[in-house]
Amino acid sequence: MRQPMLEALRMKVKNTFAVRHSLPVLTTGPRRKITLTLDDGPTPAATPKILDLLNRHNTRATFFLLGSRAERWPRLVQSIAEAGHPVYAHGYSHVRMDELSPEAVIEELDRTEASLSRFRATPSPYLLRLPYGSGHHCERVHRLLRSWRADCQIVHWRYDMKDFLLANGCGSYLELRERCCAKVSQALASRRLPGSIMLMHEDPLDVDAPLASAVGPLLLEELLLGASQAGLQIGPLEPRCRPASRQRPF
Ligand SMILES: [Zn+2]
Repeated sequence: MRQPMLEALRMKVKNTFAVRHSLPVLTTGPRRKITLTLDDGPTPAATPKILDLLNRHNTRATFFLLGSRAERWPRLVQSIAEAGHPVYAHGYSHVRMDELSPEAVIEELDRTEASLSRFRATPSPYLLRLPYGSGHHCERVHRLLRSWRADCQIVHWRYDMKDFLLANGCGSYLELRERCCAKVSQALASRRLPGSIMLMHEDPLDVDAPLASAVGPLLLEELLLGASQAGLQIGPLEPRCRPASRQRPF
């Protein structure tokens, strides 16, 4: 079988297209690539540095933005969209979707998309990153999301950098950089990394540590350098079309 056909078959099997769920749940991308997703932005402390790094490496990533922060810093949303990065929703207030009423879930999504659609056309298919990954296996959440947008695809991950832990108890910027270097080395040595959707944060919302906002840019800088040396491409997530015959409603 030719390589492109093998690749297409592998992605079809790896990504859960309506086998157990109403909506696709994506965890992987192309084999020799890191599909980079950045959550919880935008913030003035992290977003400009992240955009500068991606620009210098001629790389794009997929941004899952919080509606509450997008409303507060609309110019940053504009900067991300104008730089050509795909921009999607991560909810408005970063609460678990599987613990909300149906009305509250729809409001979370509508308010967030309203703050994003000022700066780019609403995409289709619509990729969604659930806060804490909440409800990505929950039938009720799938039904709700499908009622919101039938073209919704849930973007989960296969490789979590757990970057929200790195600033805890960290005493200096130098120490934080060392932690980020070690984290990237660990990731690049992992067999799970190539072909993964990687979860990182621009500036994680719930971390109470003085250097928390520095983690995203530092980690990204190390990752871009390390991946290049390892021959791994980094890029945004490409939404995939699902054949109608594979849809299976609950
Ligand atoms: Zn988040």
